[in-house]
Amino acid sequence: MSAPLRRLLIANRGEIACRIQRAARTLGIETVQIHSASDAGARFVTEADDALCIGPGAPRQSYLSADRILAAAQLTGADAIHPGYGFLSENADFADRVEAAGLTFVGPTGDVIRRMGDKIAAKHAMEEAGVPCVPGYDGPLIDDPAALVAVAERIGFPVLIKAAAGGGGRGMRVARSAEELPQALSTTREEARLAFGDATVYLEKFLGTPRHVEIQVLADTHGQAVWLGDRDCSLQRRHQKVIEEAPAPGIDRAAIATLGEACAEACRRIGYRGAGTFEFLYQDGAFFFIEMNTRIQVEHPVTEAVTGLDLVQAQLRIAAGEPLWFDQSGVTVSGHAIECRINAEDPDSFLPSPGRIADWQLPEHPWLRIDSHCGPGAVIPTEYDSLIGKLIVHAPDRESAVARMRRALEGTRIEGIRSTLALHEWLLSDPGVQAGGIDIHHLERLLEERT
Ligand code: ADP
Repeated sequence: MSAPLRRLLIANRGEIACRIQRAARTLGIETVQIHSASDAGARFVTEADDALCIGPGAPRQSYLSADRILAAAQLTGADAIHPGYGFLSENADFADRVEAAGLTFVGPTGDVIRRMGDKIAAKHAMEEAGVPCVPGYDGPLIDDPAALVAVAERIGFPVLIKAAAGGGGRGMRVARSAEELPQALSTTREEARLAFGDATVYLEKFLGTPRHVEIQVLADTHGQAVWLGDRDCSLQRRHQKVIEEAPAPGIDRAAIATLGEACAEACRRIGYRGAGTFEFLYQDGAFFFIEMNTRIQVEHPVTEAVTGLDLVQAQLRIAAGEPLWFDQSGVTVSGHAIECRINAEDPDSFLPSPGRIADWQLPEHPWLRIDSHCGPGAVIPTEYDSLIGKLIVHAPDRESAVARMRRALEGTRIEGIRSTLALHEWLLSDPGVQAGGIDIHHLERLLEERT
């Protein structure tokens, strides 16, 4: 486990595959890129040191096939696997299998992933570590209507019924009164059983107008953990983040520091290793833990911009057994960063727009970072998520970061497919977005007003 990584297999695709390759190259680690037949000509395939097609476009037969990925690792002599985000990145059984095969999994242990993937267990672990959680009933719910109503009344309506195994914004339902409770319970149960193979649900207070604020952490295999500031990801559509920024505007820095310390402490207690994110809802000056993501996140570059740290390189160094090379006093946040996620989607209908990129022009600025696997001629397949690139700007303060992002968007041209570029330009002209501190329903409200 504590040997330098030599040859890294990347079990992912798209922009994050390019991002991981870049970090590996800097550290002198060879890259093996697995891919599906649909991605054969993609840049992340041609730029890797070694590449192997492991199956057809369907994710189940390629990026989600643990069998094929492990066979590919063996065949290519890889000694470690980076799962990226999505796909198998939070699959505890996959992490176990990687390690059982004698390879290094770039992420926490299967046991930790399993524990954090069960939202009830995760909440218990956080409460024990002193991380503030959404008030609720943390036991799995029983089918006793009277007991259920009593619990909900104690917490106060509206309440949210959530699947313990839920993810991707699915498996959740609001109940606004005792009458709505039984129906909400049975529907969520059924949905959870079908979607996650686990009907366990729990109940928590439904917050009406929260912001989404998260804490980035980094922990090594020697019991050390630090937190790397916060991010605000409140601009969401259907629970999918659209724009993220660091730090979260208008929140007391001392409160963030207390929260960050609690997160670092939670990492030490649960034996966390690698990069991770604690997600919170923030309302009326208080934070409420909702879940932990045990992987690198799409929005990690805003944290890199304000801290000057390279999170993917850090993941690889930690996976190789290196002790953290700085402590909390070595983490400083400077300026403000914003990220816009550009999707291959119609900016009005949000329908996917796969196809061939005919023209692709991006501006160059010292304050602009572009994370993308696309370019002129790139083909966006139909089978995968529609993220084609991320624009990340860094500036001394938030106002200039917004201005710089608007300039970067203006200078960007993507032709041949539809993209959400225009949506971002529109959002950054909104007074609420410009002022900062909007809640998680802001974008959906704007879209409703527009129609
Ligand atoms: P998932 O794993 O599906 O992403 P989360 O627990 O992170 O589930 O919740 C997803 C989203 O659902 C949150 O970002 C927030 O918008 C909403 N949400 C979750 N819990 C609550 C709550 N208690 N009150 C209000 N909204 C919530």
